[in-house]
Amino acid sequence: MSTLPDTQYDPIEALDVRGDFPALAQTVNGHPLTFLDSAASAQQPAAVIDAVRRYQENDHANVHRGVHTLSHRATEAYEGARDRVRSFVNAASRSEIVLTKGTTEAVNLVAQSFVRPRIGSGEKIVISHMEHHANIVPWQILCEQTGAELVVAPIDERGKLRLDALYSLLDESVRILGITHVSNALGTINPIAEITAEARARGIPVLVDGAQGVPHSPVDVQALGCDFYAFSAHKMFGPTGTGVLYGREALLEAMPPYQGGGDMILEVRFDGTIYNELPYKFEAGTPNIAGVVGLGAAIEYLEGIGMDRVNAHEQLLLADMMERLGKIDGLRLIGTAEYKASVQSFVVDGIHPHDLGTLLDQQGVAVRTGHHCAMPVMQFFDVPGTARASLALYNTADDVERLIAALERAIRMFR
Ligand code: PLP
Repeated sequence: MSTLPDTQYDPIEALDVRGDFPALAQTVNGHPLTFLDSAASAQQPAAVIDAVRRYQENDHANVHRGVHTLSHRATEAYEGARDRVRSFVNAASRSEIVLTKGTTEAVNLVAQSFVRPRIGSGEKIVISHMEHHANIVPWQILCEQTGAELVVAPIDERGKLRLDALYSLLDESVRILGITHVSNALGTINPIAEITAEARARGIPVLVDGAQGVPHSPVDVQALGCDFYAFSAHKMFGPTGTGVLYGREALLEAMPPYQGGGDMILEVRFDGTIYNELPYKFEAGTPNIAGVVGLGAAIEYLEGIGMDRVNAHEQLLLADMMERLGKIDGLRLIGTAEYKASVQSFVVDGIHPHDLGTLLDQQGVAVRTGHHCAMPVMQFFDVPGTARASLALYNTADDVERLIAALERAIRMFR
């Protein structure tokens, strides 16, 4: 399966699911809400909100431990969601789906449990220049702990990964490649299947940060060929505080636990503890059960629409948004790679991104402003930050229209 969108997709009926999302029905500062900040955290459909409420009202109990009915129901709901995640990303087994707090925790888990025991002073971790801080700082911490070296693959002025330069960094001293599927600041989609093939041919395991991959297109971890794939529920229309680490079973099996506590054990004695089987070995303590129930409901919702449709819808909107933004005088697009997901960063001459964001908010248009937890990207483009409009399946041509009108008004007001 290609990781890049098929730009030749058949025209499809535009998606119209805005009505499924209660938060989008409100007005903000006297205007209908135009929500263009889904890359930070997406809104939740009523199906997710209702599933969580039903669970809280009827089924709440701790999982895996009770013989009583509610505990059985809670366990069924929690484990049922894990099964949905497995099939959503086409993992080979439910043992490969570790439920975490989010992408950040998943990356830290891989850094500490997988890479730390396998790396030494002078050995290398390779990442790219377009990573989110969640795929930078855990590796810097690991380097401090072990004396390993963090090496960064460059990007070009369009925000595209320089693949030849990346491949030239992948030598025998590299212990892991950590790479984002889609850049949250630039929207660039990386050709993950090709990259993992290159890395694995050299015996280098690959962790993919999929936080911005999963919400926008179908993801098949086996086709991508990665060893680990991390993502967060709240970027895919589920609740905050919940996420997933997919890992190849043989690798997870060989890794020590990340945290110790209840649920991750089979037997505890003062002279030694036997750890639980996968995936529970990595799920110490009471998990975010309601969050996982919401994640399961979000996947059911997305499957009902179809990720190919989501992708096609967003690609049409993105093309329209990029074209129209590009025509605004004094506006510079940041991130113009050929293959992009529905994120567009930009700066406007003479207006600080925060001022721009405030002026847009006054017109009911929510965009993110700042460094987007990707400060090295800002340093590369030599900007203090950007404004970023990010689209999701519920956005429409009207949203793009309102963004452009609000921007033009904001620029006029400022000048
Ligand atoms: N990676 C990318 C590409 C992201 O966009 C984000 C969130 O913005 C993260 C990682 C971190 O996700 P979380 O805060 O849910 O752990």
